[in-house]
Amino acid sequence: MYSIIDTHCHLDIIQEQGLEVAQSLRNAKEFGIKKIVQIGIDLESSIRAKGLSEKYSDEELEVFYSIGCHPTETHEFPKKEEILTLIRENILDKRLCAIGEIGLDYYHDDSTKAYQADVLHSFLDASGKLSLPVVIHSRDAAEDTVSLLKEHRDKAFGVIHCFTYDYPTAKKLVDLGYYISFSGILAFKNARDIQEAAEKLPLESMLIETDAPFLAPPPFRGKRNEPAYTKFVLEKMFSLRKEPNAEVEKILYNNSLKFTQRKAYHHD
Ligand SMILES: [Zn+2]
Repeated sequence: MYSIIDTHCHLDIIQEQGLEVAQSLRNAKEFGIKKIVQIGIDLESSIRAKGLSEKYSDEELEVFYSIGCHPTETHEFPKKEEILTLIRENILDKRLCAIGEIGLDYYHDDSTKAYQADVLHSFLDASGKLSLPVVIHSRDAAEDTVSLLKEHRDKAFGVIHCFTYDYPTAKKLVDLGYYISFSGILAFKNARDIQEAAEKLPLESMLIETDAPFLAPPPFRGKRNEPAYTKFVLEKMFSLRKEPNAEVEKILYNNSLKFTQRKAYHHD
């Protein structure tokens, strides 16, 4: 069986879509998932994420969590300080592994660009001060994401989750010290640019995830996603890389482990 870490999922939203948390974790164990990161998208879901990690972690599968403010959750922006306080209050909790998701999303709404950037700046500051990685969501905002992260370079660090750009953009982000995380989109037929990034980046700079319940990889494309399906992202990675499968599996696992231990990716 594989050893896999799903570095980004939303168990609470999976449950809303009809699959109990306990069942999705049983399924995950059967597919070799050893750890998962439950992601917060606003104040409430971040509090819920901590609760899920306490309730469901066991010797077989550990549930880490993040605290964040998703760029499309615009009604949450005034709660920025409360969310930052929640992060500080839990900084000694070893299962709190990241700040996020946070970021820029111009696909859903580009009328709030200034607010999105303001929130992102604050959380990147916190990342540097607290030595806690960020989980960055970036959609239709490649240029601004790169330039904003550049402003915080050598302090903030973390992962670009559910990567949807191309190799040149990935290279810039890796050079800034960020991991690039690939979701089930990697296995979509039309995802050539994303696959090229996965082929060319250093293996040490990459993570895998599901972003479940969204973006299920083939053979479940269009259906509800769950952490177990990280296996299909891993197997797609096998087909794209030249290294032996066991080495790809091991390095991706070690990268993800470092991420959950709040360690930075350094490419040199
Ligand atoms: Zn997400």
